[in-house]
Amino acid sequence: MEIKILGCYGNSVKNFRTTAYLINESLLLDAGTVTEPLDHKQLKKIKHILISHTHLDHIKDLVFLVDELVMMGEFNIDLISVKQILEIISGNLFNNRLWPDFTVIPSEKNAIIKLREIELEKYTEINGITVKPVLMTHTVYTVGYVIKEGNKGFMFTSDTGPTKRFWEVAQEEEGIEFIIADVSFPNRLESLAKLSGHMTLSMLLDHLDRYGLGKMPIYINHIKPIFLDEIFSELSLSKRTNIKPLEQGSQITL
Ligand SMILES: [Zn+2]
Ligand SMILES: [Zn+2]
Repeated sequence: MEIKILGCYGNSVKNFRTTAYLINESLLLDAGTVTEPLDHKQLKKIKHILISHTHLDHIKDLVFLVDELVMMGEFNIDLISVKQILEIISGNLFNNRLWPDFTVIPSEKNAIIKLREIELEKYTEINGITVKPVLMTHTVYTVGYVIKEGNKGFMFTSDTGPTKRFWEVAQEEEGIEFIIADVSFPNRLESLAKLSGHMTLSMLLDHLDRYGLGKMPIYINHIKPIFLDEIFSELSLSKRTNIKPLEQGSQITL
């Protein structure tokens, strides 16, 4: 499995882009950043988009992507998530007010976007990749994911505050090589992190230790760019060499 990190930050400022990971060139995990980093040839290869939740920093480039696909004469993209999340997108984004309803354009049968529902904690296969959504604890309905190809893969917390189920699944699930985890704020802003459904590094360390995952390789993501230096220095003080910041523009091969 090949994972390209198109964007991995908690806000879009200067050159920092928001969450989007391109898996094996055709499966996009979240759509915070799509049309800026990818050219037409790469956009054409995207066939499935898996969504973690409906906050704009995770879905905003959906609107530019579908517009571009129409202009390129490309059709049929599957927008995949659990029912609750797809309903928010169709009711609030592709509703002919904020953006045209591309789920019925040019026709219902041949629409640009097809909504594909998957079920919480059930495995679904998408073009050779197996995905399993797990309910997280955020300010809107949010799922994290187990993502596997064959018998190995990774997990993604998406945006989350303190939560239980995800970490239990991380304990049980076989073949998990790393976890991409939310660390949005520095330790001094723990109350803001909890209020906004996010994590600090010390909150993450607590969870990892509590669930026996202290040695699991971790990539932290969703750092608010303004706190980058502060969180990096907390990370180096922690001396946890298994935890690294995810880097925009990098690629992970499994
Ligand atoms: Zn969010
Ligand atoms: Zn976010």
